[in-house]
Amino acid sequence: MPDMRFVGKALDDFGDDWHWVILHDAEPRGERRYFTRLVDTICGIRLDEGGVTVTLVDTGAPHEPNCPQCQQAGVGPGLRAQIEQVLEEADLVPVRRTTSTPREV
Ligand SMILES: [Zn+2]
Repeated sequence: MPDMRFVGKALDDFGDDWHWVILHDAEPRGERRYFTRLVDTICGIRLDEGGVTVTLVDTGAPHEPNCPQCQQAGVGPGLRAQIEQVLEEADLVPVRRTTSTPREV
């Protein structure tokens, strides 16, 4: 199954920054519910692992993370434009993970 990537944060740590959250091998389990083997962020925070079902909540996420490490990592201009375009229509957007490596800024 593809990985999903979206801007989010852990609900039990709501004072935290917004990050690029990745659901690894996400399988749909109903509306906004996904079974995933690992949930982490681009900047390396491990939110859950070992096979969990997560429910995505509309939290009014911004279009881009405000975590500096997530902002720098991973999302090239092309993909970012794609994401922003789709975000005009939806709050949470599944994005196929790319194999491109983050560039040094
Ligand atoms: Zn981050």
